[in-house]
Amino acid sequence: MNKEQLDLKKLIKDVPNFPQNGIIFRDITSLLIHEDGLHLIYEEVFEQLEEYADSNINKIVAIESRGFIIGTIIASHTGLPLVLARKPGKLPNKVLQKKYSSEYSENTLCIQISDIKEGDNVLVVDDVLATGGTVKTTCEIIEALGGRVEACYFLIELDELNGRRLLEDRDIKVISSIHY
Ligand code: AMP
Repeated sequence: MNKEQLDLKKLIKDVPNFPQNGIIFRDITSLLIHEDGLHLIYEEVFEQLEEYADSNINKIVAIESRGFIIGTIIASHTGLPLVLARKPGKLPNKVLQKKYSSEYSENTLCIQISDIKEGDNVLVVDDVLATGGTVKTTCEIIEALGGRVEACYFLIELDELNGRRLLEDRDIKVISSIHY
């Protein structure tokens, strides 16, 4: 682990039994509230994504809601357009939506149909990769709209749950910084 990863991990708080029994919630609010927190995320994200600087990724899709924070950092750094994958009832234009299950919840994600164009090559971003249900569904919506997902970036990956297999099975690259 590099220095940024070590410092980041120290600032992420484990909250046992939240939001339900048996789940260890990896809380990034303790990182965001720290004076060095955002700077550390910036440094880490730039380092992780350096090798993609010359790739043909042309759009960032960020998953509600903590994924928006990481997605904004990446979009502002790369200058790429940012698309929001949101829960139902939040986006004002026509959406394609799909149900999903995550480590502790069931919900639906939506992307505005006009936000993804045929041939788009996308980087999907979220804070945590757990079982992979959330990100897999996001990738399916993007693909149904004619886009292709090149890679997914997560600040945190929960290795034991092996969510990455759902992405690697689809030939999508998985990049993550902090492992538990
Ligand atoms: P999953 O679909 O199981 O990969 O869950 C990923 C989504 O749920 C992400 O948007 C995370 O924000 C959230 N999530 C799942 N498990 C955790 C956890 N243990 N700690 C924090 N967030 C989590």
